[in-house]
Amino acid sequence: MVQIQVLPEQMLDDAFILSTANKKNGSEQEGFPFFFIRKRSIDARKKPVKYNLQIVLSKDKPELKVPLVEYGNVENGTPVHIIGAGPAGLFAALEAVELGLKPIVYERGKDVRARRRDLAAINKEHIVNPESNYCYGEGGAGTYSDGKLYTRSKKRGNVLKVLELFVQFGSPYDILVDAYPHIGTNKLPKIITAMREQIIEAGGEVHFNTKVTDFFIEDNKIKGLELDHETKVEVEHVVLATGHSARDIFDLLKAKNVKMEAKGFALGVRIEHPQELIDKIQYHGRVNDEFLPPATYTLVTQVKDTGVYSFCMCPGGIVAPCATSPGEVVTNGWSPSKRNNPFSNSGIVVEIDPKKLPGYTPDNPYIGLEFQAAVEKACWIAGGKTQAVPAQRMLDFVNGKVSKELPKSSHQPGMVSVDLNKVLPGFVADSLREAFKEFGRKMNGYLTNEAVLMAPESRTSSPISIPRNPETLQHVEIAGLYPCAEGAGYAGGIASAAVDGLNCIQAISKVINEKQV
Ligand SMILES: Cc1cc2nc3c(=O)[nH]c(=O)nc-3n(C[C@H](O)[C@H](O)[C@H](O)COP(=O)(O)OP(=O)(O)OC[C@H]3O[C@@H](n4cnc5c(N)ncnc54)[C@H](O)[C@@H]3O)c2cc1C
Repeated sequence: MVQIQVLPEQMLDDAFILSTANKKNGSEQEGFPFFFIRKRSIDARKKPVKYNLQIVLSKDKPELKVPLVEYGNVENGTPVHIIGAGPAGLFAALEAVELGLKPIVYERGKDVRARRRDLAAINKEHIVNPESNYCYGEGGAGTYSDGKLYTRSKKRGNVLKVLELFVQFGSPYDILVDAYPHIGTNKLPKIITAMREQIIEAGGEVHFNTKVTDFFIEDNKIKGLELDHETKVEVEHVVLATGHSARDIFDLLKAKNVKMEAKGFALGVRIEHPQELIDKIQYHGRVNDEFLPPATYTLVTQVKDTGVYSFCMCPGGIVAPCATSPGEVVTNGWSPSKRNNPFSNSGIVVEIDPKKLPGYTPDNPYIGLEFQAAVEKACWIAGGKTQAVPAQRMLDFVNGKVSKELPKSSHQPGMVSVDLNKVLPGFVADSLREAFKEFGRKMNGYLTNEAVLMAPESRTSSPISIPRNPETLQHVEIAGLYPCAEGAGYAGGIASAAVDGLNCIQAISKVINEKQV
């Protein structure tokens, strides 16, 4: 294996890559006839932009494939109840099948196809279906996303297995090669459908339009679930993978006195620039380059003692209306696999420490959630009580000036010009203004009135965590309940949520195996 650097325009020249790699390896003489790229990243720190390639030379033609997991029949396996069919729930269900357990998945939303109509209703008619939207439904919040699959956390478990499973179910092999892999909204639904079909074919169950509406807890053990206020099912092992938007689940847990804790999260705005401008800044003047993908960026700074950073950057993307209830607005972003829309968007968010929020007391896990909900409602009012978002050009925001008119944007429900300094909480607006000046210094051209800010970007991670035993992964007080992934505070993004789904099932399998011995 050798590491080489090539120019973007040399990426399509296999003969050049092979000879460069042989040269670097000192094997020009015997000359390995084949190669494959094991890892690929772009180094745009200096001009000229280059690709870093990790090349594996070989004597035989390489076959790029992943180890396929074989799934047996689990119809008669021990049932494991999984609430939520987001990345955590789906990967938990696949892991259950692999380990011989029978997954029974309850998902309040619809399957990926039926879900599309509800997304169109939000975008075009400003109607938010509280059971089916950009966050709820098959594949969870990860389905209509950019499908970025990198996670900063290496500690949480088997990211490689998650990526390989994505490939097994239809993702391009590239996600195992790119340093910053992403799949894209156009490809994700098919992959997610294939996963669900496998779960059902193996004898598992996936129930759409089925909401968990109550928990039955006896002697500190989870005993049952109520579905849609009517059916009761007995349970022994429950994976709670309902994501960070399911506020009704937090209410339910509160009503049952299930221990929860306030957790830090982040909130701010979604910023949209012309993609060409970001390419120009990041690629030192190269725009619309056929040899380079649309450029990304990562920004982070500290304003006084508070972190401000870019979050979920979507090159060539679309800003999505991600409210889960009427009476609120929420932004996020997605991209198609080619990332070929003319805009770049990213969350720019300020760390929210619940301890610093007015009214904080250690026994109130809700303080962050209440703050988050209040901002989403204030933005809904400022945007005219539709799914249009309050917005402002970037420099106008920094200068405290209402924008005379707003630029073109990818946000379909529209924008309303306001002074976001007056809509966002004071300390959030103050931190953003300072951070934008710093980001303008770091990326020359970034601080511009060509960019527009939309508010709020508020669902970055869960404002609540549900504590669990780090060994058994069961709730610290309720046996059999496995708080899982993003909603419980153990993941931030698709890959880490999927990994946590695997982890919870492995913990359940251990309990079941120990019982059987
Ligand atoms: C537009 C958008 C773009 C994103 N882009 C990316 C990206 O590029 N990369 C990335 O890593 N992350 C991205 N994210 C975040 C990512 O989607 C989440 O981190 C991830 O989906 C969390 O997985 P999860 O399984 O924990 O929860 P979720 O995906 O939130 O899934 C939870 C599921 O539980 C269901 N549910 C909730 N309550 C109940 C109930 N009472 N009964 C039954 N079912 C219930 C919900 O309907 C939902 O389907 C994006 C999010 C959005 C909204």
